[in-house]
Amino acid sequence: MNFQYWNRRMETLPRDELEDYQLEALRVMVERALRTPFYSRELQKAGITGGASIKSLDDIRRIPFTTKHELREAYPYGMLSIPKEDIVRLHASSGTTGVPTTIYLSGEDIKRWTSFVARSIYATGCDKTDVFQNMITYGLFTGGLGFHYGAEEVGMLVIPSGPGNTAKQFQFMKDFGTTVLHATPSFLLHVESKMREEGVRREELRLKRAFAGAEPYSEDTRKRIEELLAIDVFNSYGLSEMNGPGVAFECQAKNGLHIWEDGYIAEIVNPDTLEPVAEGESGELVLTILCREATPILRYRTRDLTSFYTEPCSCGRTHRRLRRITGRSDDMLIINGVNLFPSQIEEVIMAIKEVGNNYLIQVEKEGALDRLTVKTEVGPDIFMDDARPLNALKEKIRRTLQATISISPRVELHESGTLPVSEGKAKRVIDTRPKDI
Ligand code: AMP
Ligand code: ZN
Repeated sequence: MNFQYWNRRMETLPRDELEDYQLEALRVMVERALRTPFYSRELQKAGITGGASIKSLDDIRRIPFTTKHELREAYPYGMLSIPKEDIVRLHASSGTTGVPTTIYLSGEDIKRWTSFVARSIYATGCDKTDVFQNMITYGLFTGGLGFHYGAEEVGMLVIPSGPGNTAKQFQFMKDFGTTVLHATPSFLLHVESKMREEGVRREELRLKRAFAGAEPYSEDTRKRIEELLAIDVFNSYGLSEMNGPGVAFECQAKNGLHIWEDGYIAEIVNPDTLEPVAEGESGELVLTILCREATPILRYRTRDLTSFYTEPCSCGRTHRRLRRITGRSDDMLIINGVNLFPSQIEEVIMAIKEVGNNYLIQVEKEGALDRLTVKTEVGPDIFMDDARPLNALKEKIRRTLQATISISPRVELHESGTLPVSEGKAKRVIDTRPKDI
C-alpha cells in the first residue's frame, strides 16, 4: 500500500525522540497548568511546583487525575491559563446540560488542533482532490468545526451539511460529487437505508471513504457500512476535553487508531485501582493534552475502555495504536453520538411535579438509529383514563427533556406503582442495543 504522511517527520519520529519530545512538552504543560486556579492548587498539593519537578515521563504518575466532575466544578474559568482576551473560541461536550465542561482555545490552539485533524484525514489516503461532506452536528460539539477546519487545511472542498435531511444530503452528494463523508456510524447506516428507500443508485455517487466516530461501534458494524455503501470506513476517536476529533485515528492499514503522541500522552489504567495495566491489557484511557495553551488538562480520566496494540503498524508510523473503544467505565450513554448521563434525565423529570416517583430509561435500536424512551409513573393525582391531561403531560416532559438534553425522547406514562421496583440498586437503564464489539 502507498502510505502518505501529512507530517512525515513527526509521524515517523523514532520512539526515543518522540518520548523526549513528550517530556519537554509535558514540562511546558505543567507550567501552563500552574497558571490555572484549579491546577495551581492541585499540583502544589502533589509537590509539583514547576516543569522542573517532572524529571522523566514516569513522573507523570505524580500528577493527580482530573475528572469530568472537576472540570464542571472549575466552570467557568478555573481551567483557564491565558488572559481571557486571548481566547478565540470555546467548545463543550455533546449533550452538555446544566454546568458545562467548557474548553477554551487560543488562535494558536486552533491551528495546532487543525493540524492534527488534517494529519488524521490525510493518513486515510484523502487529499485536496476530495469533496468532504461533514454530516455531523456543528455548534458547541467539536466534531463539526474540528473536522471542518482540518478538511479545509488538507485542501478538500468542504460541504458543511450537518446531519439530518437525507434527501438534501443525497442531492449534495450527487451535485458536488462528494467522495468523503463524516458522521456517526448509526447515521451512516441510516443514510444507507434512506438511499434504498429513496431510490438513490450507488452509481450516481462518487463516495470512496467515510470517517465514523463520536460513539462506540463494532468491527462488524464497520464492515456492514463498508459493504452496503461500497466505501472504506475509518474509525475516528476524540473528545471535547482533548480538543475533539484528531486525538486518535485509523490510517490506511485500518487496524487500530494511532494516537498522536506528540499531541497527547496516553496511559491505560485499571479503573478500580487506577494503576497502569500490563502491556496490551484493557483498561481506562487517561489522556494528557500537550498541544493546547488556553486549557491545559492533565491526566484526564476519559472513562473510555480500550487497550494498546503492542506490535508496530505496517504504515511506518511510530505513534502507538489503540483498539476500538469497547465501552465506558461509567454510566454515560451515547445516543446517536450525543452524550447523556441518566442523572440528567432524572433531574429534569423529577422537577416536574405531576411526575410520580419511579422512572425507567430505555435505549434501543430503531432501524439504524438509537431510540430513547423515557417511562415515568404519574403522581397519584393524575387519572389514567383522562387522555387530555395525560397527553399534555407527555408533551411537557418531552419538550423539557429535548430542551435540556438535545434529544427528543419518546415518553410513556404509567400508573403510579406499576413500573418495576428492584430490591437492590435501582436499575434505571435498559439498553438493548446490540453489544457485539
Ligand atoms: P464529546 O466530548 O462530546 O466529544 O464525547 C466524547 C466521547 O465520545 C468519548 O469520550 C467517547 O466515549 C465517545 N467517542 C468518541 N469517538 C468515539 C469512537 N470512535 N469510538 C467510541 N467512542 C467514541
Ligand atoms: Zn498505521
